[in-house]
Amino acid sequence: MEVLVADDDPTTQLMMKSSLERLGYHVRLATNGTEALAILGSENPPRLAILDWEMPGASGVEVCRWIRTGGDEPYTYIILLTSRTSLSDIVEAMDAGADSFIRKPVDPNELKARLRPGHRMLDLQRQLIRAREAYRYQARHDGLTSLYNRTAIVEILKHALEVGPVSVAMLDVDHFKQINDQLGHDVGDRVLVELGRVLSQSLRPEDTVGRLGGEEFLLVLPGVDTWEAARVGERLRKRVEDLQVTEAGRVLRVTVSVGVATAGSHTPYTELLKRADRTMYAAKHAGRNKVIVWSDDSPDMVA
Ligand code: GH3
Ligand code: MG
Ligand code: MG
Ligand code: MG
Repeated sequence: MEVLVADDDPTTQLMMKSSLERLGYHVRLATNGTEALAILGSENPPRLAILDWEMPGASGVEVCRWIRTGGDEPYTYIILLTSRTSLSDIVEAMDAGADSFIRKPVDPNELKARLRPGHRMLDLQRQLIRAREAYRYQARHDGLTSLYNRTAIVEILKHALEVGPVSVAMLDVDHFKQINDQLGHDVGDRVLVELGRVLSQSLRPEDTVGRLGGEEFLLVLPGVDTWEAARVGERLRKRVEDLQVTEAGRVLRVTVSVGVATAGSHTPYTELLKRADRTMYAAKHAGRNKVIVWSDDSPDMVA
């Protein structure tokens, strides 16, 4: 692990460097407060810092204060190096955000002991950040297909509508209940996973797909006009039709009915979803495995 040692005294620098290297650390040295600030402010800085209280440029306490104004993530564990031990000094350093002290002259055993809680704190923070990222991911993704879930895709749609016109395509698997009934829910699940993969692999980077729920998916196509969206819908309909899911030596095929709709910016997202829902049902009524495009008067069949 990397540790920053900032001290203007060459003897202390040498002693700290050799003690820390013996403990397995990779040491970065700064000879004044300005250099320490530059290192801690760089990309990927050391997460452990041992700062001399008194050094030119900026004192250890000043460096400490500056680091803490940058927020707590990722955390820098700061140990101040000082011969000051009065209560008011300790309070000042703690107020500035120091985590610990080491008295000068430095005893290598004390150095080792003072670093231990630093490791514990940094490890704990790493674990918490990882757990929080996992929860954030789960809150926005569907557990089965790993696509965006309903909450996330609707949010993406709302944001897109704030920026400009948006087309959507709503896809619903045809007679999906039969797959579950005849082959089992687990096979149905596999079909949904395969569908999710095909859909996400068929989009431009600006487009997004999510699972609205059950066997319904929503594509959000920002800045795409109705006819281009109809072409996208048709391409996906065809890809799904060509998809082969093998199950116990049998090849399964599925089709989707697709409703396409477009709305200008600031149209309520609920209105756009309603239009897509209406055209998707029109595709069902027209015989399924079809793409229908919404228009002001009546839904318009394109495939
Ligand atoms: P239609 O062509 O009219 O859309 O017919 P359908 O059978 O696809 O429609 P219906 O709404 O009757 O059935 C949808 C089925 O999707 C019923 C439900 O059990 C199934 N389903 C919903 N979510 C899941 C899931 O996560 N996994 C599996 N395997 N099935 C699911
Ligand atoms: Mg000094
Ligand atoms: Mg459905
Ligand atoms: Mg269905």
